[in-house]
Amino acid sequence: MSEERIIVVDHLTKRFGGLKAVDDVSIHLNRGETLGLIGANGAGKTTLFNMISGVLKPTSGTITFDGVEIQKKKAHEICKMGIGRTYQIVQPFTTLTLLENVLAGALMRHPRVADAREVAEGIIDMLGISHLKNTKGASLTLIQLKRMEIARALATEPKVLLLDEVMAGLNPGERVELLETMQKIKETGISIIIIEHIMKVIMTLADRAYVLNQGCLIAEDTPQKVMEHPDVIKSYIGERHYAS
Ligand code: ATP
Repeated sequence: MSEERIIVVDHLTKRFGGLKAVDDVSIHLNRGETLGLIGANGAGKTTLFNMISGVLKPTSGTITFDGVEIQKKKAHEICKMGIGRTYQIVQPFTTLTLLENVLAGALMRHPRVADAREVAEGIIDMLGISHLKNTKGASLTLIQLKRMEIARALATEPKVLLLDEVMAGLNPGERVELLETMQKIKETGISIIIIEHIMKVIMTLADRAYVLNQGCLIAEDTPQKVMEHPDVIKSYIGERHYAS
């Protein structure tokens, strides 16, 4: 794997009034790497994703993507540059079919519908949801929606994919299936950052992991080493879902 840094987050801070949701955080993502981002509820993980994807502007600090500072850019500009993301709460176009939802992502780079459709169908196939492509968003189950959400992000053909707790709300059997799909996505060589409370996902997929606690970075290492870190163990006491 190349050690070239595709994303560099440098001394990033986000304040909401008196609260520092992200407090002077510096992290990086290497090209082709899968990075885990973990931490208790309210640690600042999604706020960090929101800044990387342009949904929120940082209070201070910089974010460099492929050599270009992006912290002042708008979300659609960042998406066009090559950062795709999913959201914790999937928000499908309920009256559109699954294919049309994914097409919405593909059209960003392929203005000709026929071209966009080809891209969308390829990704839908990889996500194992071809049989649902004519099903309306409103009729999809949670696991199907999660797959659709990942497909929609991949349809923008990102260089970096940000996955925000895609396992949330799924049962153990569904998690196993989605983990296999995530493994397939990783094998395409795309650079990924995963926020996830299910440690098995981080242990299986992540090459490295960062731990946030109350906005601050408290550990960075391999997933195995990170989980043995005393500060991590301390901050996870009472976080039952981290055990499984
Ligand atoms: P979870 O695992 O529960 O999703 P998280 O690590 O993603 O948590 P964030 O959602 O980033 O945490 O929240 C970090 C802190 O910032 C929390 O205290 C949260 O209440 C606060 N926060 C997040 N967004 C806003 C906002 N728009 N306005 C005010 N406070 C916010």
